[in-house]
Amino acid sequence: MTANLLDYDLEGLAAFCERLGEKRFRAVQLFRWIHQKGTSNFDDMSDLAKSLREKLKRVAHVTALTVLSEHISSDGTIKWLFDVGHGDAVEAVFIPEGDRGTLCISSQAGCAVGCRFCSTGHQGFSRNLKTGEIVAQLWFTEHFLRKHLKRDERIISNVVMMGMGEPLQNYSELVPALRVILDDHGYGLSRRRVTVSTSGVVPMMDRLAQDCPVALAVSLHAPDDALRDNLVPLNKKYPIADLLAACNRYLAFAPRDFITFEYCMLDGVNDQPEHANHLVSLVRQHSTGGVWCKFNLIPFNPFPASGLLRSAPEQVKIFAKILSDAGIVTTIRKTRGDDIDAACGQLAGDVKDRTGISQRIARQRTVMLKPVTSFNEEIKAG
Ligand code: SAH
Ligand code: SF4
Repeated sequence: MTANLLDYDLEGLAAFCERLGEKRFRAVQLFRWIHQKGTSNFDDMSDLAKSLREKLKRVAHVTALTVLSEHISSDGTIKWLFDVGHGDAVEAVFIPEGDRGTLCISSQAGCAVGCRFCSTGHQGFSRNLKTGEIVAQLWFTEHFLRKHLKRDERIISNVVMMGMGEPLQNYSELVPALRVILDDHGYGLSRRRVTVSTSGVVPMMDRLAQDCPVALAVSLHAPDDALRDNLVPLNKKYPIADLLAACNRYLAFAPRDFITFEYCMLDGVNDQPEHANHLVSLVRQHSTGGVWCKFNLIPFNPFPASGLLRSAPEQVKIFAKILSDAGIVTTIRKTRGDDIDAACGQLAGDVKDRTGISQRIARQRTVMLKPVTSFNEEIKAG
């Protein structure tokens, strides 16, 4: 089997070159062709010796994921569904906002954590994505958008691991992918512009601090263990006190001097003033002085199987005010891509019906996959 070069960070690619009997620095050229120029054809890599190109053709390839569908929201958000084989699909979402372009990517097909309010969680766990499958989401979207928007400069300025899956339960594949995203010869994003979001896999938060300390978002969703056990089952293993202690340890390495707590607002479940007051005391109790966290209140994106409802906007405002009045920086997340089910927690990918490709994917294959030209026109029109 030949190697997919999207699976390697620069160090891995250098080792690969060495195994081919090539100098390690060839890896830098190769890496730049692949990630900076979006080239997958070795023949186009004009500054590599012909003999090396021929060798690469025999032992390697650069293969992205197959796009099953793309949806463009009226607000400019674009969602892609990628085939990852055996009836599994994962989603990536591009969210343009001013001069910033954020790509939300997936780390697993499905998720084993099983949060009550998350449709990925409801579909169960299928498998971990490989490094190359995580990287491929960025590789494809960045170069696809450059081509279609006819722009030469970087389009994706921020990457958030907030798509499908729990990134810290796929640690060994995640870290090389992060390194590709951060590498100056790759996408060159700064550590503050790359965010890993976790439901709280405490030991891996400590490892991330050592190996690749990017910005960290922690999905809190409840101020006490009884409620959090119910919403985020992983809490039974790593309860709130342990989680907040890990956040404080992470801060010593984090590129930002705060942790972002995500809090999904569920009507009548975790959105009452008493919950906000409890959060305030929790934050104070764990504070080592000054602002150490920010809250991001996420309006719940409902899906039928959850049996949960979105909090009323007024309720969210009251909640936010209690936190802000206590000196905690709090934002209410705008929902984006609502009309194409691209908002947080709606990334179902419709993994599989265990008998093969689901009806939804099959339908999208035929109906939704747009020819490049019509996509281009839509972007211009939008
Ligand atoms: N597994 C990681 C990252 C993926 S989920 C995590 O849980 O942090 C990304 C974010 O979307 C998390 O904060 C998650 O709580 C939130 N989310 C999940 N389902 C949601 C829904 N239905 N509505 C709003 N936010 C949701
Ligand atoms: Fe998994 Fe995150 Fe969804 Fe929870 S919210 S089920 S951890 S993807």
